[in-house]
Amino acid sequence: MATTAPDSRGDCLQIFRGTFIHSTDTSPLEILESRIVAVNKLGKIVFIEPADKEEELSQKWHFKREKIRKLCPREEFFMPGLIDTHIHAPQYPNMGCCLDLPLLQWLIKYTFPVEARFKDLKFAEDVYTKVVKKTLRNGTTTACYFATIHTESCLKLCDIIDKFGQRAFVGKVCMDMNDVCTEYRETTSESVKETERFVAELVKRKYPLVKPIVTPRFAISCTPGLMKQLGSFANANNLHIQSHISESRAEIAAVKKMFPKCKNYSDVYDVHSLLNDKTIMAHAVYLSDEELELFQRKGAGISHCPNSNTSLCSGLMDVRNALNHKINVGLGTDVSGGYSPSILDAVRRATDVSNILSLNTADYQKLSHEEVFRLATLGGSKALGLEKVTGNFEVGKDFDAVLVNTGVPGSPFEVFHEDTLQAIFQKFLFLGDDRNMTEIYVAGKQVFPCPTA
Ligand SMILES: [Zn+2]
Repeated sequence: MATTAPDSRGDCLQIFRGTFIHSTDTSPLEILESRIVAVNKLGKIVFIEPADKEEELSQKWHFKREKIRKLCPREEFFMPGLIDTHIHAPQYPNMGCCLDLPLLQWLIKYTFPVEARFKDLKFAEDVYTKVVKKTLRNGTTTACYFATIHTESCLKLCDIIDKFGQRAFVGKVCMDMNDVCTEYRETTSESVKETERFVAELVKRKYPLVKPIVTPRFAISCTPGLMKQLGSFANANNLHIQSHISESRAEIAAVKKMFPKCKNYSDVYDVHSLLNDKTIMAHAVYLSDEELELFQRKGAGISHCPNSNTSLCSGLMDVRNALNHKINVGLGTDVSGGYSPSILDAVRRATDVSNILSLNTADYQKLSHEEVFRLATLGGSKALGLEKVTGNFEVGKDFDAVLVNTGVPGSPFEVFHEDTLQAIFQKFLFLGDDRNMTEIYVAGKQVFPCPTA
């Protein structure tokens, strides 16, 4: 139990009474009915108690009972904010189109050209404002963004994220090897120097929720010299690392050709000091058991991006196998390889992929919707090393939360009298959308509806 601190006096608390739905290590879906949750001025949860202790709590914490925000039973509940562990903010203009080619051709024809436009700061500001507003509106309280090679527009993205109040990692993309789009390439020394400048500038801004992440794009677009220097820089400064791994068969073949001395794709990152407990790798569709064991030993996380993997026909990732290897797995939209900005969509696509995998393997243990919900929240926080801060409702964690209302006008699904809370929640996961998300909080601050939006 937290003790009363100056920031936790009753008049400084936000207090909610109602149903809270989240995941824990031991339970993928825990429904906490009739609870009172208090959040202090710092945005941290100070207690979660049964509602029948309301009077006792009001005396202990010195708050007036009329101050309590009461949720409508059955119609409203809080769930943790959703966590997008892999999204390319500059690809947002292409979201929902340009999906007719496999990964490597798709990069050349559509993706490098749109990313090259981010040297224009005005263009960057317009797109980045839209993507941050859109993801927040869809309940993404934490996002792990790839930006582009352009330091100034990367910093602009950080400014916008801070302004709208999202929690995020932002990576200045590094790539010094790319023959197809000369406009979109750096020298090795530029790439390292600009990464250092980006990190220094972002740290100077002292944004409480926006942190840098070292971002070699992927092994194909980075020389060994660049990867080595980025690995050293990240390790020396205790920074997070993100990249892509084992997304498509053609990509894996290219990596094999370029790094013949490495045992496998994971080994390429490992020998360049890029695989550790602060690393998150997107896709991991074709990792062997040997590679998964390496991930587990190193503590590296995986971002599963099912919409992207099916839209670009990259492959079907076996999340169950990764979980069996005790790896932290979160969900990613991978906009714009994935065509939806919503982690609820990722929940549905991840369920589909798991169901499809079960068709070919006898006794395959499919992911339940409860487990996929855990990937979208607590799993994502662990994959990003943020589990002490966000991911579920626990005393001491930040209050990152979405207020869901199943009874809003135009709700995309119906609730019937006989529906249990479990059924209502499943309907929301499979059928709900931003219309049902009536309030969104990050670190205790309401970011939607937002007066500055
Ligand atoms: Zn990606």
